[in-house]
Amino acid sequence: MDFISTRTTAPAATLSQAIAAGLAPDGGLYVPRQLPPARPLQAGTSLAATAATLLQPFFAGDALEPALADICAAAFDFPAPLVPLATGNDHVLELFHGPTAAFKDFGARFLAACLSRVRAGQERPLTIVVATSGDTGAAVAAAFHNQPNLQVVVLYPDGRVSPRQAHQLGCLGGNIRALRVGGSFDDCQAMAKQALNDAELQARVPLSSANSISLGRLLPQMSYYAHAALVHHATHGAPLNLVVPTGNLGNAMAAILARALGVPLGRIVLATNANRVLPDYFEGGPYQPAASLATLANAMDVGAPSNFERLRWLYAGDDAALRAAFTARAVDDAGIRATIADRYRRFGEVFCPHTATAVQVLEQLRASGEAAADAHWAVAATAHPAKFEAVVEPLIGREVPVPPALAELLQRPAHAEPCAPVYAALRGALLDG
Ligand SMILES: *Cc1c(COP(=O)(O)O)cnc(C)c1O
Repeated sequence: MDFISTRTTAPAATLSQAIAAGLAPDGGLYVPRQLPPARPLQAGTSLAATAATLLQPFFAGDALEPALADICAAAFDFPAPLVPLATGNDHVLELFHGPTAAFKDFGARFLAACLSRVRAGQERPLTIVVATSGDTGAAVAAAFHNQPNLQVVVLYPDGRVSPRQAHQLGCLGGNIRALRVGGSFDDCQAMAKQALNDAELQARVPLSSANSISLGRLLPQMSYYAHAALVHHATHGAPLNLVVPTGNLGNAMAAILARALGVPLGRIVLATNANRVLPDYFEGGPYQPAASLATLANAMDVGAPSNFERLRWLYAGDDAALRAAFTARAVDDAGIRATIADRYRRFGEVFCPHTATAVQVLEQLRASGEAAADAHWAVAATAHPAKFEAVVEPLIGREVPVPPALAELLQRPAHAEPCAPVYAALRGALLDG
């Protein structure tokens, strides 16, 4: 299969090329030239085996095809259980059992497994430049740690990520460098973008990105939805409906693609925080990217959801069809706080702020009857609440135990290099790295 750009002017690329490039050269996002037909999927196989079957047509004919099973085994070596909630027919799909306790571990580990093979035998290492407001950088750093021929430079706004997030970025060492930038996340992102567009620098230091537009992160995310929906369907004979906490729309886009490949998923509803670009669009307004607002669900603080371009491609640019197919609802910080406190008080359930947006949206759908009482729904639980203890613990009045993989990272000493919020400082760091 080959891949084309959503903006259609870039030449078609192989999967390996699209994964190595990240963004297409015309500034668009890579998408498959056409969607493969529905896959012969079976419940009861492992998550890694489901992933390999689902992803096979996308790898067909590519140099990575023979390695697909190994790549899936490496990336999907921790579970994504579908766990019932106290309220009838509601579930959480727990996506936070990886090394950094967020769903981004799946995509980052799959991308690392692909890139380490794409780069094998190259003389110079490939440097991944990531600007992060927390979760992405941690997942990418952990996934690429000790991978031969690859190194990572993470930029984060000093003092503006949580202490635990900063620790996760700085504690790995080796081929991972953490730069604490004396500026904002936007400064970090602008610096990273400038490096990725600097041809003269790239001739000396090969660079790539690992943000959520990368096909190497998007495609594998279909797998946990497929695995959960197949097992659920085999048990209950009913499709699983989803609410997905949404920022750049990568995780939800993966669910939408999985459904298009024949995975037994019902409705897919998007939950956002106070950043209302998607709810406003799906309620009939124009698509209007805006500056992002800071919220308690900070990994979803996105004013211009990058994968929206892929969603429009899937619906051939037909806004009316797109609006008819999806619902998006916003939950503000007060709603996030109330949901975390209330679910704990009533049921002893503990959610991270991102997951809480989706739990709140599901409660609204149930209350209005839009989600029928006998329909089965799941909320994607995108991070472990222990990552956001400063928000969660005061609301529930107790400590949240830290999962073992995260605890292991937090025990290591951490070190980050200071970096001025100007491009020349990043360029200098890359050249003497
Ligand atoms: C990244 C992230 C999201 C948003 O996912 P997108 O793919 O950007 O929509 C939601 N929750 C958590 C915890 C995240 O880290």
